[in-house]
Amino acid sequence: MTETPARPAPKPRPKRGEGQWALGYREPLNKNEQSKKDDNPLNVRGRIINIYAKRGFDSIDPADLRGRFRWMGLYTQRAPGFDGGKTATVPEEELDDRYFMLRVRSDGKLLSPAAVRALGTIGQDFARDTADVTDRANIQYHWIRVEDVPTIWDRLDEAGLSSLEACGDSPRPFLGSPVAGVATDEIIDGSPALDEIFRRYIGNPDFSNLPRKFKTAVTGHPSHDVSPETNDVSFVGTVHPEHGPGFDLWVGGGLSTNPMLAQKLGVWIPLDDVPDVWEGVASIFRDYGYRRLRSRARLKFLVADWGVEKFREVLETEYLQRELVSNPSPVSPVGHRDHIGVHDQKDGKKYVGVAPTAGRVSGTMLAQLADLMDAHGIAGARLTPYQKIVLIGVEPAAVEQVVEALDVIGLSARPSNWRRNTMACTGIEFCKLAIVDTKERARRLVDSLEERFPELDTPITVNVNGCPNACARTQVGDIGLKGQLVMHDGEQVEGFQVHLGGATGLEANFGRKLRAHKVTSAGLDDYITVVVTNFLADRTEGETFSAWVHR
Ligand code: SF4
Repeated sequence: MTETPARPAPKPRPKRGEGQWALGYREPLNKNEQSKKDDNPLNVRGRIINIYAKRGFDSIDPADLRGRFRWMGLYTQRAPGFDGGKTATVPEEELDDRYFMLRVRSDGKLLSPAAVRALGTIGQDFARDTADVTDRANIQYHWIRVEDVPTIWDRLDEAGLSSLEACGDSPRPFLGSPVAGVATDEIIDGSPALDEIFRRYIGNPDFSNLPRKFKTAVTGHPSHDVSPETNDVSFVGTVHPEHGPGFDLWVGGGLSTNPMLAQKLGVWIPLDDVPDVWEGVASIFRDYGYRRLRSRARLKFLVADWGVEKFREVLETEYLQRELVSNPSPVSPVGHRDHIGVHDQKDGKKYVGVAPTAGRVSGTMLAQLADLMDAHGIAGARLTPYQKIVLIGVEPAAVEQVVEALDVIGLSARPSNWRRNTMACTGIEFCKLAIVDTKERARRLVDSLEERFPELDTPITVNVNGCPNACARTQVGDIGLKGQLVMHDGEQVEGFQVHLGGATGLEANFGRKLRAHKVTSAGLDDYITVVVTNFLADRTEGETFSAWVHR
């Protein structure tokens, strides 16, 4: 009998490439990568102006419609009539409406009264009076027809605004401190850096084919008012003992299904160098970012695999050709970051932060706001990462009159906890990925919690999301709600997975996701009432909601 020769030990398999360009994986590995290779997405602008706007919706090449339009801030909106249960089984083309969502980026800019009016009248004239403020400080319209897009772009252009690369695998709209240049306690004004990053890199083909979205935040305000923990790249104001004010660099934040908080490099970057460092980080993402799987194509996965030491080394040696100055990272404070209410400016004027309910604004409201700004000589307005609006340069003597006038148009400078601290993403009303309603649900929730807890002495944030994508930052809200279908009386109904105790800042933490904490949309008010009642009864002196949950 012959003996079977012992099998050689299997060779370790070569690790499959992740589609990193810098390692030679230049061949497109999925349809998104193929589409970007077939034609630079920025080229779609010309086709929209010269072909699609003239010939109408049916003339649009599907590869442009579902791909490259995003680089112009355009997505088809959800066709009406599909409920959450059907979404999973409906082909994408049937979910497409013949209307678009259009995102306009604000990039931390001070919007003049004329710009606010332009944003309002675009909503009135072309978007059935929609104009929401998003938590990336965009204005988001719905019901846009492709025929109207060139005119809208002309109007935006006149107002110094743009929808370029507001979506897509590109440098998405930047978050800047809403009180940049005016707050009395500001460490450093980062707006010149943001303006320069926009000037150099937005619409630049070298940065229009990134592995996926790339989110930027810059703040020199000590409250860290741009959610720097959840951006791909953040520049956060800090002071070096010898060199003075500058910025620390945080990289690799992002939420969605594999949430990660940004990691701090512990460096000091002067204002003038911020654009170059931004270019270095964006280039690392472009060259080393994972392109094979869309689910791993965010910078956070690379940062998690490399660690910050290697990330810094590659940034310094391959992209900057110099060493960065080390400096301890600034500690994030606990507390509000939204600038609601009346505050002093450096120049003796005031800034006033107001809270639309869950970011729901309208074209009419913006037009009214522009009139109000003109009537009171207010210099400008900024949109915030918390779906709020801050008016800059209010004369102290006019403050009370301005606050009253704002109230009349539905923008409160003294909102309740719930109106102030509830955010909601787009949801099933317009978003093709949504499973549940969010905006209207959040509005009703705010009304009912205002009745149940009219005086709350500690902030509790509620972040309402229509699906796992966490556009309204599910995991970092005190009460984070992720839309999903839940069973109720043997039937699937709209509901939420609850995450409790999420926070940014000093207590940065993801909310605890307890299996049992699923709630129907209809039962949401009662559920939150029970949780808040328990917290109020059980908390110790000064304990925050998040600290209580993680006790
Ligand atoms: Fe749409 Fe989901 Fe994002 Fe909400 S979280 S806007 S439902 S993708």
